[in-house]
Amino acid sequence: MTITTRFAPSPTGYLHVGGARTALFSWLYARKHGGKFILRIEDTDLERSTQESVDAILQGMDWLGLAYDEGPYYQTQRFERYKEVIQQLLAQGDAYYCYCSKEELEALRAEQMANKEKPRYNGKCRHASCAVELAKHPVIRFKNPAEGVVTIADLVKGNIVIANKELDDLIIARGDGTPTYNLTVVVDDMDMGVTHVIRGDDHINNTPRQINILNALGASLPLYAHLPMILGADGSRLSKRHGAVSVMQFRDEGYLPEALLNYLVRLGWSHGDQEVFSVTEMITYFDLSAVNGSASIFNMDKLLWLNQQYIMNLEPEKVAYHLQWHMAQLGLEVGNGPSLVELVKVQRERAKTLVEMAAISSYFYKDVEAYDDKAVKKNFTADAGNILQQLHDVFAAIVTWEAKVIHDAIVEMAEALSVNMGKLAQPLRVAITGAAVSPAIDLTLALLGKEKTLVRIQNAVMFISNAKNL
Ligand code: GLU
Repeated sequence: MTITTRFAPSPTGYLHVGGARTALFSWLYARKHGGKFILRIEDTDLERSTQESVDAILQGMDWLGLAYDEGPYYQTQRFERYKEVIQQLLAQGDAYYCYCSKEELEALRAEQMANKEKPRYNGKCRHASCAVELAKHPVIRFKNPAEGVVTIADLVKGNIVIANKELDDLIIARGDGTPTYNLTVVVDDMDMGVTHVIRGDDHINNTPRQINILNALGASLPLYAHLPMILGADGSRLSKRHGAVSVMQFRDEGYLPEALLNYLVRLGWSHGDQEVFSVTEMITYFDLSAVNGSASIFNMDKLLWLNQQYIMNLEPEKVAYHLQWHMAQLGLEVGNGPSLVELVKVQRERAKTLVEMAAISSYFYKDVEAYDDKAVKKNFTADAGNILQQLHDVFAAIVTWEAKVIHDAIVEMAEALSVNMGKLAQPLRVAITGAAVSPAIDLTLALLGKEKTLVRIQNAVMFISNAKNL
């Protein structure tokens, strides 16, 4: 039997981190067991489903690198199949037409509430031999077993037992013939050979109903794993109020997908006290039995810390790949400067996010348009013009433009002038970057290239001389 999992989002909004964690756990479980991971778009709610949301989900999955082996399947393309199954349930006596009007159902509900009973359909049409009057657009209800219990051997929560008495006959087709959520999920899980349903515990109430329908259809039952909720720092359900919740918003804010995946895998799952997991390690160690049954709290600071770890330690090629997008956001033309891989190597200890990294790297890709006032006051002193001119001339003579050679030239000049390195490095930094902060000056210059270095020093010399003449 091939272990088969699925991620089945409803396209009614962006891909939320909670959904992303469900997708990740399902993906990991399939990968770990050499199984199959399916993406299924549950778009039967025509009013709330949008193409924009479908695109956002696909984009989020792609950005996270959660590749699916099958799909995306769209439930709206499977209506014929659902109809067929509904007909089968009717034919075998496991479903029936219900003609109760809205008013009748409301009155029933009000009566039950008044009697302090749980509101549920009383099964009137199940028992009455109502004539089939299709013109009345009846709904179709599943004939839930009246007796016995349903046991969910949940892989995360343990055994959950629900008495069938608690469940009423749920509607599986609306008056217009369209199928409802519990029916479509069951048909799909059955047809797609899903062996493990891993989903949020907000679906736990649906599970016994789905099991009963699967049994009526003679399908083999999948195993279930219901994942606990993700909460914000204040203990309420994670939402926009707590900050970024959409996967793509994390991209926008400069997170690496590897860092977000690592953060998400630890939300409710642990392996000893290890915090940092490569994707390969996640696949090796992940197991549903180690998933915690209680809710987890989303901690932005920890995610930021992980992001920094990943920026520092991931292959620079991978960081560079994602940095590219952020450079474009700032209108920086990466062809105008050093390779992003080399850039990442000098900047990776200096930024917690890719947004920061792009922002502190702009001078490599575009000319310095203005100098920082404070940096000018402090570093473009009367003798700085002279020092910069001398540096310019020494640099102009360098044949092999490398950090080590540049470093030696600066040290040599500092010694010759009997000043400390900073006296040279700081004005140089302002000349090159416009401000007084950058990676080591020799690395910065090496990366920027000789030609641009010389032009920028010359511009600074001119600026200082003009300022003096004012
Ligand atoms: N479409 C459902 C949702 O987005 C998930 C259904 C399921 O996983 O069974 O909440």
